Amino acid sequence: MTDVDFELDNQADALPLLSDVALIPQAPEGFKSGFVGIVGRPNVGKSTLMNELVGQKIAITSPVAQTTRNRLRGILTTPEVQIIFVDTPGIHKPHHQLGEVLVRNARIAIDSVDVLLFVVDGTVEAGGGDRFVVDLLSQSKTPVILGINKADQQSADAESIDHSYIQLAEANGWAVAKFSALTGDGLEALQSLLNERLELGPYYYPPDLVTDQPERFIMAELIREQILLLTREEVPHSVAIAIDRVDEEPEITHILATINVERQSQKGIVIGKGASMLKAIGTAARQQIQKLVMGKVYLELFVRVQPKWRQSRTRLAEFGYRVEE
Ligand code: GDP
Ligand code: MG
Repeated sequence: MTDVDFELDNQADALPLLSDVALIPQAPEGFKSGFVGIVGRPNVGKSTLMNELVGQKIAITSPVAQTTRNRLRGILTTPEVQIIFVDTPGIHKPHHQLGEVLVRNARIAIDSVDVLLFVVDGTVEAGGGDRFVVDLLSQSKTPVILGINKADQQSADAESIDHSYIQLAEANGWAVAKFSALTGDGLEALQSLLNERLELGPYYYPPDLVTDQPERFIMAELIREQILLLTREEVPHSVAIAIDRVDEEPEITHILATINVERQSQKGIVIGKGASMLKAIGTAARQQIQKLVMGKVYLELFVRVQPKWRQSRTRLAEFGYRVEE
């Protein structure tokens, strides 16, 4: 018994006090908080919306479907509320049944959140993918807000497109908001609808935190995003980024990262003629990471062939990807 006490005392000397680390203040009276699941088919702008709402880029976005691999939380704290947004992953493999995956992702979200934000694309009429989600949400007791996104890109047929979604919302008693995640227009009204549906609650996270993911994970994602954007269809889905080193100096942050690909041919594409592609990826990713760390960044990238990393769960874990059953 005394031995145990002694050990604990020793540790207490070496480690900072828990109360110093977790600076989660007591919420003021009347404070509301809760979890909001962002659901919808791929490419409607879920990740863009989450970034805009939390005010920082934490989820990568791209015109290519299947961008989001892991479930990611974005945290918004205002004087009145704390909302934890849960972005849901897209489709990993093209041969997966779209409906199946949408339903599975939506189900995960439904079971663990207080409010559901169902995002749809206001530039196209309601389609099969949306209806899969609607069927699932209509069976849930969780309040739903239907968000019509991409209002900035709507044209003359806006009214009939909106109608196709509003019909679905009215049939289920859901609130509707229309906005542009890209420009931020209409997000205040959405925010009010969200706030109204939250219940009294504590701070779940420190007020200055915007995501539950470590900074290194976001760095890796920002590099992966540039590969998605710049190489498009050729390579994207078989890359995994490892952040090997981060050295923070007063003037600059040095980052060493490895881009793992599955095949020699993909390595060639990622590097490009005279390393031009790798330079482009590095330059663009560096600019994004500078915003994240709010300072100068020196980014060094390596490309490595790591055959069949996708099949290996151990390797997936090594790269920081969670394999969801
Ligand atoms: P997700 O798959 O639902 O997470 O969608 P993303 O957030 O990755 O966005 C998919 C594409 O739609 C990206 O190219 C975004 O820039 C674009 N996008 C997202 N929101 C808007 C918007 O409000 N207006 C326009 N014009 N494009 C948007
Ligand atoms: Mg996404």
